[in-house]
Amino acid sequence: MQPMPKEYNFAEIERKWRQKWEEMGIYHYDWNDKKRVPFSIDTPPPYPSGELHMGNVLNWTYFDMLARYKRMQGFNVLFPQGWDCHGLGIEIQVEKEHNIRKRDVPPGQFRHWCMELVEKYIAMMKDGILKLGCSIDWATEYRTMNPDYWRRTQLSFILLFKKGYMYQGTHPVNWCPHDETAIADAEVDYVKREGVLHYIRFPFEGTSGHALIATTRPEFIPACVAVEVNPNDERYRKYVDKTIVVPIINRSVKVIADECVDPAFGTGVVMICTYGDKEDVKTVIKHQLPVVMLLTENGRINENGGKYAGLTINQARAAIVEDLKTAGLLEKTEKIQQEIGVCDRCKTHVEILERKQWFMNTRKLTDRVVEAADEIIWYPDYMKNRLIDWTKSLDWDWVISRQRLFATPIPVWYCKNCGELILAQEDWVPIDPKLEDPRIDKCPRCGGKGFSGEQDVLDTWMDSSITCAVHAGWPDRPDWKHLFPADVHPSGTDIIRTWAYYLMVRHLALFDEKPFKNCLINGMVLGADGRKMSKSLKNYVAAPEVLNKNGADATRQWAAAGGATGSDIPYRAQDVEYGRRFLVKLWNASGFTGKLLVDYNPVSAKHVELQPLDKWIVCKLEKLVKKVTEEFENCQFNAAIEDLRNFTWHVFCDNYLEAVKDRLYNPNMQGTAKRLAAQHVLYEVLYRIIQMLAPVTPHATEEIYEHMFKDSKGFESLQVSPWPKFDVSVVDEEAEKNGDMIIAVMGAFRNFKAENKQALNAPYSSLTINAGNAEAADALKASFEDIKGTLKVEKLIITADKKTDGRQIGSYNIYFEAKQ
Ligand SMILES: [Zn+2]
Ligand SMILES: [Zn+2]
Repeated sequence: MQPMPKEYNFAEIERKWRQKWEEMGIYHYDWNDKKRVPFSIDTPPPYPSGELHMGNVLNWTYFDMLARYKRMQGFNVLFPQGWDCHGLGIEIQVEKEHNIRKRDVPPGQFRHWCMELVEKYIAMMKDGILKLGCSIDWATEYRTMNPDYWRRTQLSFILLFKKGYMYQGTHPVNWCPHDETAIADAEVDYVKREGVLHYIRFPFEGTSGHALIATTRPEFIPACVAVEVNPNDERYRKYVDKTIVVPIINRSVKVIADECVDPAFGTGVVMICTYGDKEDVKTVIKHQLPVVMLLTENGRINENGGKYAGLTINQARAAIVEDLKTAGLLEKTEKIQQEIGVCDRCKTHVEILERKQWFMNTRKLTDRVVEAADEIIWYPDYMKNRLIDWTKSLDWDWVISRQRLFATPIPVWYCKNCGELILAQEDWVPIDPKLEDPRIDKCPRCGGKGFSGEQDVLDTWMDSSITCAVHAGWPDRPDWKHLFPADVHPSGTDIIRTWAYYLMVRHLALFDEKPFKNCLINGMVLGADGRKMSKSLKNYVAAPEVLNKNGADATRQWAAAGGATGSDIPYRAQDVEYGRRFLVKLWNASGFTGKLLVDYNPVSAKHVELQPLDKWIVCKLEKLVKKVTEEFENCQFNAAIEDLRNFTWHVFCDNYLEAVKDRLYNPNMQGTAKRLAAQHVLYEVLYRIIQMLAPVTPHATEEIYEHMFKDSKGFESLQVSPWPKFDVSVVDEEAEKNGDMIIAVMGAFRNFKAENKQALNAPYSSLTINAGNAEAADALKASFEDIKGTLKVEKLIITADKKTDGRQIGSYNIYFEAKQ
């Protein structure tokens, strides 16, 4: 045993152990281990966005606590780390930084800039993850933008194509006119905005009457293909099947009847445009209406808009409203609160465009997703419904093609002569069809020799939705099913509808198997003002700042203790500071314990005579082992850390350590079995404490282990020491009950001294304790020396008398009188 350094220098300790653990290689997943049971964590590869934020800190602390706990439980833990590189966010940032649009430079140059930016962001995030002390196996690190990962994504596309899950179709899709790409339902955010409802007269053909239509989007008038009323609406039943003239463009369209029309909205008469919103899409399909596409990919009016062609949507709205006024067709306008869909990256109003796209037929998997969601264990349980509700709410298949540059190419070509689709063969990938021809001589259909590569690319979720298989070694390791499904998929409440959902559909379609067995959900981090932490709300705290100031172990305690798993947790600086104070307390208690144990040899201390107070803490500790183990098993990290901190601070430091000091210091006790018992219990209890704290505060506990325990326990690192096992035979309810009483006596007498403004070690000439009955008296007498020594009493008298003179001890029927 080596003496502990006086100061707890977290920066130095944390830096040292980060490096040492890496050198020891204790985080490496052993692919050849046939003995230990594997435990695989499906670490979601983050989207590199620069600095690590407190939300990331919460996520990674969860992953890491679980990894460390499972490692100590004896599992062969796979904790991989990848980076989900592609996507709009990076392209937008590159366009901003270089002040260009993506089409202004050669694609190779643009891609190079994207990769450069991604590397810069990865370096920043990785630094933060390392500082947090995450026990990642860095040998597994991967980047979805690298050809080796393209290979996996493209292979998954080919397999799904062959299974009939991939199809091309001209179908309306969500479209971001700013980013000029299709986006999936999951990338649409809904926001409340104020709009203007325009009441417009649509004249009936051949008569002088008109229908009054209320719309927030008059710019879509040129794309109006029908007018619709509810057949149960008395006011308008007479309109059905009449012909009406669309103003401005003078197109004659029919009035159709549909019960979907809400008679209470606007006037109860609506125009159907292609496409103003998702409802229009449904109506067009149901009533087989013609389609008049009005918008270009960059959000301008196209040739179908006649004289408005070339205008932006907003310009067209203004011009059309003016023209309606001039024609006397605008009856009135009123303001209205509306909910509209915006692009989750750039917040532009999402439009609906019809364009040839690739789709994955995800809706046919809805029942399977619901079934799998039920099979999976969710922490917390109720989060399951978020996935189920989302799955059931989807109206459209997943549009997987994007009109972007920085993404995995779709491994497909078309014959220039006959249009035949050529799918890459499985051993061609990775391949970029924009740069390379298919590896065939001629078109299998017409014999043509010219091919054009698919220009569209894959949605970035196509990369990151196969991680459960990729982490397991698919497709290269023949034994990849050994690690599949993943044991746990950790996720945030905000990405259930994307990450959890896409993982589900892709793995179910590819392998007919759910991707993971457990799903651990973390909440969002809130700022000090109770709102979700964000840079724009000015309640943002940068993770490097917190980590540098307080260290990883203190910060991790905040993440663990902040709230129940799955709930949102506030960031409060005082919670991190409390974590640091706790570590100082643990550090000092360990140092003090070390001093009490200078003459203790843990290896030779075999036969010890446990005293009542020893049995008391041993019993309490055993119950703590049971409770904390259950809490880690159920991912109740907040309960586990609170129980551990309470036990350490109060049961161990405030009570036990104080109560046995005299036994250890008193010259009369030297060499006795009773003294050895106290040393033995101090040593073993502290060991168990640091073991159970190790998943949450790995650095400080490892340093304590190194100084005090490594020589005798013999494990290379506390991180690979076996997690304590609950031993019911150690639980002694009687000893615990008696110990509680003894601790209460000591506490009461100390309070008494404090009230009299005396030092806690102020000597007293006599103390008489009237225990009220023989049983209590006997129990107290069994700890006679500990009580006498701890309370600094020259003459201690314990009786079974039922006297109520003097002071009562807590709620016990025990009274004491003391003389100085
Ligand atoms: Zn956008
Ligand atoms: Zn052909």
